[in-house]
Amino acid sequence: MERLAVHLIPVLRDNYIFLLVDHQERKAVVVDPAQAQPVLEQVESLGVELTAIWNTHHCWDHVGGNQALKERYPQLKIYASQADGERKRIPGQTEYLKHGDTFSFAGEEVQVFFVPGHTLGHIAYWLPQSSHLFAGDTLFGAGCGRLHEGTPAQMQASLNQLRSLPDETLVWCAHEYTLSNLRFALTVDPNNPDLKERLKEVEVLRAQGKPSVPLRLGEEKRTNPFLRYDQPALQKTTGAFDPVNVFAKVRSLKDRW
Ligand SMILES: [Zn+2]
Repeated sequence: MERLAVHLIPVLRDNYIFLLVDHQERKAVVVDPAQAQPVLEQVESLGVELTAIWNTHHCWDHVGGNQALKERYPQLKIYASQADGERKRIPGQTEYLKHGDTFSFAGEEVQVFFVPGHTLGHIAYWLPQSSHLFAGDTLFGAGCGRLHEGTPAQMQASLNQLRSLPDETLVWCAHEYTLSNLRFALTVDPNNPDLKERLKEVEVLRAQGKPSVPLRLGEEKRTNPFLRYDQPALQKTTGAFDPVNVFAKVRSLKDRW
């Protein structure tokens, strides 16, 4: 058995909570607990100790379980960005992260990326050794988060950082939006054969009730219109050339779709 395992816990309508388990130390951390109860059930059934929460950002469907988990495990460390810490909007936050910070879990290095755009305090967690990326609401399957607080330039720069990671990166995003996003993607990138193929595959997966997450970053690079801001097909659709302008137009088309 691998030392590190990632468990996906579906909650609410389309959210995913991720529980990372260190099988050697019998410890676990949870990414973006929208709710506490499903996390407690999973932790107890695995017989592990919950030691930390890693929050990507402050939205209620990512931090909703923080307080109740802290009550159950008073020693819990709660990681989130320095930027959200300054805004005091992460319940129970104890650790304040900046871009480039590193720490460890399950014998692996965890690297922090500051990825504002969806919100101004959003971070992502990357484990280069096992290729896991916890992207929150920044990158979705064939999509990206809405710009609730940031600008198109901020979000495009954030996505550009994530796009620079290796193709084999497994992207754990916080919502199951992939199928609907693929249908939109075909309206802006209609002649992309990889996109047509992926839509068929995800239709089958979802019809079987299976998640489309984790995503594979290489496939996102080929099919996600929000990562294809420098591709001729997207430049043609948007009538723009500069990556930020291409991105901004695709985002506004999606917002009105
Ligand atoms: Zn959010």
